[in-house]
Amino acid sequence: MGPRVSVTNERAAAAARAVIPGGVNSPVRAFGSVGGTPLSIASAAGATVTDVAGREYVDLVASWGPALLGHAHPEVVAAVRDAATRGLSFGASTLGETELAEAVIARLTVRGVPLVERLRLVSTGTEATMTAIRLARAATGRDLVVKFAGHYHGHSDGLLAEAGSGLATFALPGSAGVPTAIAAQTLVLPYNDLDAVRAAFAEHPGRIAAVITEAAGANAGVLAPLPGFNGALALLTREHGALLILDEVLTGFRVHSAGWWGLEASGVTGSTEWAPDLVTFGKVIGGGMPLAALGGPAAAMDLLAPAGPVYQAGTLSGNPLAVAAGLATLRLATPDVYAHVDRAADAVAVAVHEALDAEGVAHVVPRAGSLFSLAFRVGDVRDYADARDQEAWRYPPFFHAMREQGIALPPSVFEAWFLTAAHDDDALARIVAALPGAARAAARATAAT
Ligand code: PMP
Repeated sequence: MGPRVSVTNERAAAAARAVIPGGVNSPVRAFGSVGGTPLSIASAAGATVTDVAGREYVDLVASWGPALLGHAHPEVVAAVRDAATRGLSFGASTLGETELAEAVIARLTVRGVPLVERLRLVSTGTEATMTAIRLARAATGRDLVVKFAGHYHGHSDGLLAEAGSGLATFALPGSAGVPTAIAAQTLVLPYNDLDAVRAAFAEHPGRIAAVITEAAGANAGVLAPLPGFNGALALLTREHGALLILDEVLTGFRVHSAGWWGLEASGVTGSTEWAPDLVTFGKVIGGGMPLAALGGPAAAMDLLAPAGPVYQAGTLSGNPLAVAAGLATLRLATPDVYAHVDRAADAVAVAVHEALDAEGVAHVVPRAGSLFSLAFRVGDVRDYADARDQEAWRYPPFFHAMREQGIALPPSVFEAWFLTAAHDDDALARIVAALPGAARAAARATAAT
């Protein structure tokens, strides 16, 4: 059934607000920082989404990352449909789970050395990072965790401090409802600042279980690691008997077939050989279905129950439909796909820059592989303080001018833009054609609007 003509985004949002907190099931969907009526989506295909009123938009959200191949890729949908005919969930093991673990391990093997020997499937990135932290605490017998300001690792209690993503959008330092005793176990440091990490280890000797970092920050806008930063973290954590947890929930299988680590390991970013102790995945690994994972060497991963004493479980973990979507997505995510997404990202990032330059709007377009975002400031964005130090009020008019021209951008300046394999020349041309009008709207904006 197509969209009902009488339905509007306004009516859909009002009905939702009456029964769902804030009208949404994830905060950034409420359009809080750009204003206006949130989009209510009826369907999506390829590079586009269609709202309940029947209006089509070229989409640069891609479900916040998972839709690497574009929306509703026919082969992914067929794989899910096929799996559904055999049952939706069993609460028992399936062949597909093993196949997916094997596929991930194969992709993360560089020069014959696997980064991951064991993989545990979960349903959300939040569970993956939460479990990785529990594992690190068990492995080290220590409690403290270091995270970086502006990095988002999901919404478990200990990881919500200065967490980027929706917290950046709504300018929240953390979440209410997190016990002080739990928050006190997390040390928040400025990103890209190795001296701060060294100082934390010096100040808390023998007490830090893990450093968790986004492989490349992309939840306060894009915050790329400085060359060598991740490798130096790997050395520092090892030196101090702590684990490095590399959060690839957003970057994994999106920026490269072996994630951001793969980009670094293959020398694309000029980095040298290094390895994290644990890695977390989400988004692309489930191809748009609820699936995420954590992985690492057997010695660490086998601490998980039932092999070891660290408890973790899930009624829907390794769900057969989600596994089918993930397997199909990884099979279809060939080097050509990554090359296409890289080229598409280049084209849009350059066009954004040119349109804003033509209007004399101060801005930068931070990049991390095929990920990029927009920051209305002069000078590089190296940490959360930089990301927040910008004329963010220029974004709402920019966003709405794009929307009026049929382009759906992330509804917050603190989010990355996502290209997909389905962004063909036509989709890119529509984005590029809309940018000058958006740049004019950004130029006209005033702080009071
Ligand atoms: N880690 C990172 C780097 C993320 O970007 C996200 C989600 N945007 C998460 C963890 C949490 O994943 P989920 O929303 O699936 O819980």
